[in-house]
Amino acid sequence: MQQGYSLIEVIFNAQDQPLDYRFLEVNSIFEAQTGLVDAVGKTMRQLRPAHEQHWFELYGQVAKTGQSVHVEQHAAYLAGGVWYEVFAFPFGEVQNHQVAILFNDITERKQRQIGRELLISITQDLGQLTDETQIIRSVGARLAAHLGITGYHYVDIDEDRDQATVRHCWHALDVPPILGTYPLHAFVSPAALANWRAGKPIIFRDIEREVPDGTAEAAVLKAGAAAQQISACITIGLSQEGKWKACFAVADSRPRQWTAGEIELVEEVAGQLLPRIERARAEAALLTSQKRFESIANLVPDLLWDSNPDGSTNWYNQRWLEYTGQRFEEAIGWGWTDAIHPDDQAASARRYSQAVEAGTLLRQEHRIRHHDGTYRWFVVKAAPLKDETGQVVKMYGAAIDIHGLKRLEATLREADRRKDEFIAMLGHELRNPLASISNMLLLLQLTQGADSSLPYPKAVDQMSREVGHLNRMVDDLLEVGRIRYGLIQLHKKPFDLVPLVRQTVELTRYAYAEQQRHLFFASPVTSLMVLGDETRLVQVVMNLLTNGLKYTHKGGRVWVSLQRVSDSSLAPQALLSVKDDGIGIAPEQQQAIFDIFVQGETPLDRPQGGLGLGLAVVKQLVNLREGQVAVQSGGEGQGSEFLIHLPLTAQAAVEPEVDLFMVPAAGLQGRVLVVDDNVTIAHSTVRLLKLMGYEARARYSGSSALEEAQQWAPDVVLLDLGMPQMDGFELNRRLKEQSWGQTMAVIALTGYGQQAHQLQVKQAGFSGYLLKPLQLAQLSELLNEVMGR
Ligand code: ADP
Repeated sequence: MQQGYSLIEVIFNAQDQPLDYRFLEVNSIFEAQTGLVDAVGKTMRQLRPAHEQHWFELYGQVAKTGQSVHVEQHAAYLAGGVWYEVFAFPFGEVQNHQVAILFNDITERKQRQIGRELLISITQDLGQLTDETQIIRSVGARLAAHLGITGYHYVDIDEDRDQATVRHCWHALDVPPILGTYPLHAFVSPAALANWRAGKPIIFRDIEREVPDGTAEAAVLKAGAAAQQISACITIGLSQEGKWKACFAVADSRPRQWTAGEIELVEEVAGQLLPRIERARAEAALLTSQKRFESIANLVPDLLWDSNPDGSTNWYNQRWLEYTGQRFEEAIGWGWTDAIHPDDQAASARRYSQAVEAGTLLRQEHRIRHHDGTYRWFVVKAAPLKDETGQVVKMYGAAIDIHGLKRLEATLREADRRKDEFIAMLGHELRNPLASISNMLLLLQLTQGADSSLPYPKAVDQMSREVGHLNRMVDDLLEVGRIRYGLIQLHKKPFDLVPLVRQTVELTRYAYAEQQRHLFFASPVTSLMVLGDETRLVQVVMNLLTNGLKYTHKGGRVWVSLQRVSDSSLAPQALLSVKDDGIGIAPEQQQAIFDIFVQGETPLDRPQGGLGLGLAVVKQLVNLREGQVAVQSGGEGQGSEFLIHLPLTAQAAVEPEVDLFMVPAAGLQGRVLVVDDNVTIAHSTVRLLKLMGYEARARYSGSSALEEAQQWAPDVVLLDLGMPQMDGFELNRRLKEQSWGQTMAVIALTGYGQQAHQLQVKQAGFSGYLLKPLQLAQLSELLNEVMGR
């Protein structure tokens, strides 16, 4: 008989509840199966006071009902915890309350069954968890509950580096933490290593007793186990693709007889762990790298995306969404096409397909719509990702905002165009007066001024006009350059605007009459004191008056007026108005005409050309004086009015300076030797001197000048400094070496106005210094001075 057998009598209390039972008979293997010794005659509560209540209920029911039962139940206090399969049936008369019991120890089978169920739920858990720590904790907690263990460990193994890293561990008891990296060989014997590598478990039931002393590893292992309060353990080596990668261990603080079912369970669970953990780590790494990529992708100012060969997109960085205002769901797929400028869509799509087909880098430019509805230019680059066969499977793209650059490019192109136009016009405008001058010179040369159609006075008059025109152009050019480079120097002093404007009007009257235009001047006030630079203001008025001449038709009228304006918010101001009934200015041009090189449509009968600089000079000069320029015109053919406001100063009018220069009366004033390698200049200077009443001669080199000076003995030598061979300095030195040269006054003539140069001249002992071109007043003054008059 393999089954255990016992006959019992169930003891009830007064309320008919089963309290206990007494053993009447047991068979020979009863004791082995229950662990109860000498049971007959004793009650269960005497033998095992904690025996579970459900057992008493079970047998009480059989005794009372006379019905037999067949159950599988656990008895924790028998034989160290046993599962029994029990057949219990009534024995004899019911009132005797006797029950016969046949039972089997089915612990092994039962534990396997529970283990299987546990395995199923662990597998389900693992299917849902993606985080490494969560996986270990959930598996460990289930195993701990089922096996009653006191700890578990998950250890990464790196045999190449001889390292074991405890990544996760749990202890029911209070032991020192052991997370960290340890040298493998220090506590594991070569035999154990071989076992783990082969995927076999290493099992200790009682480490203290089982591990033989005598080796260093054994000492470390035992000390470690003692510190961690581990007596028994199951350790499983986990391998992947033939490489040992980890260990999973469960531990008990008491010595323990692991059952085969327990060992199998731990092996099976551990076997599932490695692939799950590896996957969790790969996913975590991917997530980290994805996050890293996304944060970088969102940091850059460019719009990024990835797209498929057909052009549909899968991903955008935040910048794309912010810029276009599209939501992610809206943008992916084909949403992006909506943001591309309709005029650019076809070309962009074509280039994209070409790049995909050729598997090359895409580079193009197109406009992308900002969420405010405006378009900006972007340069778009996309790199292909290819599979093993060379097919493009993805395109990674970036759009870089080049709108500012494009605009700059356009502005530069426009500026360049204007400059080219300007140069062409400059050539043209300079050639006209030059051609007329050279023609007249030619005529004079041929006719000696004897031709009645071009006598000297008329030729001089006409040529002077052309030269005046050239001069004005050069003045404007220089002025623009000076203003642009901030070189302009304003000699600010208070002066009266009224006489200045009146005189300028008078100066131009002749030109107006000649061109058959009418000029009117009106000033209700007699004095308007402003602060500024008279010469520059003459230039401003002159430019406006010249324009009045240019942009009116024959018989046209120009009114110049001055007045004083003041309203409560402004300081009192002078207002100059130059108004005409000419061709007028279209509204869209009224702003631009103040820019340099800007010109409107040129009327056919424009009597004089221009460079598009005049108004730019006017505006900048007036602005420098804290004044303002404005234009009013009803449009083409409606005439124009230019208005200039200048702040008035509190100072009263000053007496005009008296011009001290007067040409001396004819008569010999003294001898002047002119020395200049430029023959024309030398001659004209001689003529000028003669007109001034001096005796004058010219020489064109240093050596001939020396000779002439010795023979002719001039009072003054007017000496060009920059001559070849012997320059002015050298000649001066030589003159001063001669006895006859001691009393000669030598005046230097130079094109350089720098102070350093002036100082050099002074040190060289010249009697005076004049800048080219010669100013009559200064020449006369200096000559008077050196000749002691
Ligand atoms: P320019 O006269 O040399 O062309 P400006 O700077 O003086 O250059 O003038 C710029 C442009 O402004 C002229 O080309 C002309 O189209 C326009 N403009 C200037 N003054 C007048 C005016 N009084 N009436 C009509 N248009 C004018």
